[in-house]
Amino acid sequence: MTSLHSSPDQRAQLLAFISSRLEAFISGSKSKKVSARWDAPLIRDYARKLDLASGHHPEEVLDFIVEGLSEFAVHTPHPSYFGLFNPRSSYLSSLADYIVAVFNPQMAAWSHAPFANEIENYLVHEFGMKFGYPEENIDGTLSSGGAESNLTAVICALNDRVPDFKAKGLIGIEKQPVLYVSAESHHSVVKAASITGLGMDAVRSIAVGANQQIDIKALNEQIEKDKEAGFWPFLIVGTAGTTGSGAIDDLGSLSAIAKKEQMWFHVDAAYGGAITISEDHRKVLAGIELSDSITLDLHKWFSVPMGGSIFLTQHPSILVKSFRIKTQYMPTDGEGYRAVDPYESSIQWSRRFMGLKFFLPLAVIGWQGYEETINGQVAVGELLREKLLNHGWQISNSSSLPIICFTHPSLIEQPNLVSRVIDKITDSGEAWISMYPVNGLPTIRACITNYATTDQELEELIDSLEKARNWVLNN
Ligand SMILES: *Cc1c(COP(=O)(O)O)cnc(C)c1O
Repeated sequence: MTSLHSSPDQRAQLLAFISSRLEAFISGSKSKKVSARWDAPLIRDYARKLDLASGHHPEEVLDFIVEGLSEFAVHTPHPSYFGLFNPRSSYLSSLADYIVAVFNPQMAAWSHAPFANEIENYLVHEFGMKFGYPEENIDGTLSSGGAESNLTAVICALNDRVPDFKAKGLIGIEKQPVLYVSAESHHSVVKAASITGLGMDAVRSIAVGANQQIDIKALNEQIEKDKEAGFWPFLIVGTAGTTGSGAIDDLGSLSAIAKKEQMWFHVDAAYGGAITISEDHRKVLAGIELSDSITLDLHKWFSVPMGGSIFLTQHPSILVKSFRIKTQYMPTDGEGYRAVDPYESSIQWSRRFMGLKFFLPLAVIGWQGYEETINGQVAVGELLREKLLNHGWQISNSSSLPIICFTHPSLIEQPNLVSRVIDKITDSGEAWISMYPVNGLPTIRACITNYATTDQELEELIDSLEKARNWVLNN
């Protein structure tokens, strides 16, 4: 091929070729090491191996890419990846991403991609209902990830509270605005404070209690102190499923404080929010229905490829208030169709149809199928807790989500033993786990976000842990 044009035969051949390579990766995902120590110069050289002045045979290039991705990546689809919410994407989701790339609908203006936009609106509505927002007030937008959704929340909070924020910016605010998160919250909120010009010092990081939830008393005290010192408290961000240990803040109490102080209440449920679709477990999110907005990632617990997140709000006019900009060159007929153009109601402009990678598997397996998947992963997490306890390990956190932080009495004496056990396992490539300090003590963190993880991988993990622990204690 010497141009961007392709023939039907070439397309069929390339698709068959890449399909077989991808199938080898998918069905062989367990035969690969989960992770390795990287030789950076070697990988850099590999990445620059192809001379780009002239072209190469497409199959040669595809093989080069497949080899690079197979050899030089932490294999998050591996069922022994007990990692940071990076899922194994379902085949239907991956297929959706390919379909989207081929049709390439432009989401920015509703009238350019009405079907795609209405699918996303449908998802926003469905999720709003799942979270208990009143049907007539549900609004939201798809975003690239939790970081963008949290940034959207900070911007909406400012625009909601400051009448002319969009025009005047922070200069128009008399008192320095401050926002409140727990010390265990995700740092994308801090980043949002720096991006919006609030400054990172505007983030009040409130201590957590022994269960890693925000300390309500400490929060109240800090708000009082700030008001006395002339600051303006405008936003509380509660976390529903902290990245470190899966803690869920007391959302009902946070909502009450926000209401009393006339602050915006956002819930960062990037990972944990998925549990709202489970009849059995959704009670752990009690109070989330009282929030002004919610961050929910699709690319975490819903097994879709990156990136996809949803920002939800029960203030139907706030997105447009925050993001509407008038131009001469954009179609402005959205309103004529009684629809909102995403470029006027979100941070992005030209944008990918991100909703399909969740809609396609959802339409095939239904909410019921997804609910069983989520419940299944919660059960696998419970099973891991049991097995660890049976083998003499101690559980250090108390999350209702499948995130387990644990240690062993024999590892508590010396501070670096836990990280040596972790390194031993991740270096071997048998599994991927990580270190997280809980109440000041280093623990091993294992999270179930992979629908392919079963009892067998748990048994293997226990074996690896025992082997690594013995090795570390004897070396
Ligand atoms: C992952 C995560 C984020 C950031 O989301 P991205 O999708 O990585 O941008 C924010 N908050 C929480 C609680 C998270 O777990």
